[in-house]
Amino acid sequence: MRYSPFGKTGFQVSALGFGAMNLPGVSLQQAGDTLNYALDHGINYIDTAAGYRNSEEIIGETISHRRSEYFLATKTNKRDYAAAKEEIERSLVRMKTDVIDLLQIHYVNYVSEYKQAMEDNGAYKAALEMKEAGKVRFIGITGHRPELLAKWISKGDFDQVLFHLNLAQPFALNELIPMATQMGMGKVAMKPLSGGFIQPVEKAIRYPYSQNVDVIISGMISVDEVKQNLAAMEQEVEEEERKELEALALELGSHNCRRCNYCSCPIGVTIPDIMISSQVRQTLGLLPKGNGFYERQKDKILSCADYEPCREKPLCEEKCPYHLPMQKVVQEAASYYR
Ligand code: SF4
Ligand code: SF4
Repeated sequence: MRYSPFGKTGFQVSALGFGAMNLPGVSLQQAGDTLNYALDHGINYIDTAAGYRNSEEIIGETISHRRSEYFLATKTNKRDYAAAKEEIERSLVRMKTDVIDLLQIHYVNYVSEYKQAMEDNGAYKAALEMKEAGKVRFIGITGHRPELLAKWISKGDFDQVLFHLNLAQPFALNELIPMATQMGMGKVAMKPLSGGFIQPVEKAIRYPYSQNVDVIISGMISVDEVKQNLAAMEQEVEEEERKELEALALELGSHNCRRCNYCSCPIGVTIPDIMISSQVRQTLGLLPKGNGFYERQKDKILSCADYEPCREKPLCEEKCPYHLPMQKVVQEAASYYR
């Protein structure tokens, strides 16, 4: 596995980062075994968020005694100063640490949210104060809209940026990664499996590994998953394989969905998951979690074609900033059941 200098932070980080988002779904024993196994096998970047249920507490309970062995990244999704400051202080307590290496302003997808976080009484000010107090080392930003993130980071306020990069969402390659590189920032790619859809896992992990990013965050819940992800990074990606993966990503990413979540459906179709996974489903098949999703959504997906209020004009499409043909993709997905 590769280790890279992490922007201008002075830290060297492992290419595989531990995403702790799903740890609250397993026993504390299993979570601790998985995290400790990861540290024992060279993973030194741990990523969580205040909003991931008790994920921060699990980290505090199970690996805080090994604090010097990992770079610790968490997030606040609060936008105003007071709420963000309170949440960052709570994160320190929950993770049983004196310092958070990276505090990310979390899930910034709308211009209004960015403005709110950056204004005089915003979350950024709280992060900056905590940095001046020595409780936070670096400040980052996360979001689902790469072209907006590219604009925002160009102002020089952040040390790191976290974005999607997977075979079905290659969009960060266009503007965001080049801008983050130009700014000398830490680059972290998330959701290599797009939340449990893309298989085979090895190919899914090797795609972002073939690109100019420092860390790939994978949400892991078992020692077997850590082993599988580490195995995918044993060998560097050669030029020929990189080109093949990029060609595949062009095909699988043709739906263009950023998962910005602007859209909603009155009958409960989970549109972004379908937009992102439908092409993957046809070409590579899905992981069991993805197949389970399609089983659970079956009735809703099948109802889309008969939903009267969307006959003339699909309600979801009115809200998509990328003007994507969601109704068509959802109705195509219905054909899988026939
Ligand atoms: S379909 Fe459009 S609005 Fe919905 S998540 Fe994707 S890009 Fe955003
Ligand atoms: S077109 Fe289908 S997916 Fe879109 S809002 Fe209407 S029912 Fe929902």
